[in-house]
Amino acid sequence: MSKRLAVVTGGIGGLGTEICRHLARDGRRVIAVDLAAREDRVEAFLSDMASFDGAVSFAPVDVSDFDSCRTLVDRVQASHGDIDILVNAAGITRDASLRKMSPEQWHQLMRVNLDGMFNTCRQVVEGMTQRGFGRIVNLSSVNGQTGQFGQTNYSAAKAGVHGFTMALARETARKGVTVNTVSPGYCDTPMVAAVAPEVRAQIVADIPVGRLGSPADIARAVGFLAADDAGYITGANLPVNGGYFMSF
Ligand code: NAD
Repeated sequence: MSKRLAVVTGGIGGLGTEICRHLARDGRRVIAVDLAAREDRVEAFLSDMASFDGAVSFAPVDVSDFDSCRTLVDRVQASHGDIDILVNAAGITRDASLRKMSPEQWHQLMRVNLDGMFNTCRQVVEGMTQRGFGRIVNLSSVNGQTGQFGQTNYSAAKAGVHGFTMALARETARKGVTVNTVSPGYCDTPMVAAVAPEVRAQIVADIPVGRLGSPADIARAVGFLAADDAGYITGANLPVNGGYFMSF
């Protein structure tokens, strides 16, 4: 059997890069898909992954665009074969209190964080169920579980991610396909570096483990759920937040 093929959206982002590295270390072939970013960003990513001898590659996509996702999946399947693992890590923030949030801030975020997951899953799920194997891991956020000031759009979308996960998990459970959510807490990535220093310091003070999460902490959870022998875990949400939000 050839090595499992994984597609990671947002694959050259802060968490996506580490998820690609982790899956490649686990012996997967990995395609990082992301916006047709500046060439230097893609080059830096590929040189970072050079030690995997071509097992990690890049392909452009706009996950908010259904046709872009269809074209991507067609191309990947033609050049690399069937997609076994899909990780949805593409995401954006458009923070503002609701009083000040524009319809565009709301809709832009929904198009990437929620429609994006539909657009990619819709392209791969049929093949996965027909072949009797698939692993889908969707990235939510602790802020989808707790709500966050200035993030009605982000919190709504991230809560929606897990609703989608649970529903799709039911639809695919008998066909060897698992669908799970990983909900990171605050991690040491550019997304969190953009938060004001005094707010960041308060966040760290509130994390029981006493530090921000590392991208490797999140990648380990994704890799666990993407494994062949994780077939009895589906529709689950795995929080990786240093104890910042505990629930039962
Ligand atoms: P990031 O901004 O570093 O990476 C996100 C990636 O998504 C970027 O590379 C970006 O180019 C890509 N992207 C944005 N719009 C896209 C589109 N339309 N099509 C394709 N790609 C697109 O963010 P990150 O920290 O790596 O976060 C990854 C995921 O984890 C996101 O869904 C985020 O909401 C979630 N998350 C992150 C944290 C954190 O602390 N960093 C915490 C909780 C949840």
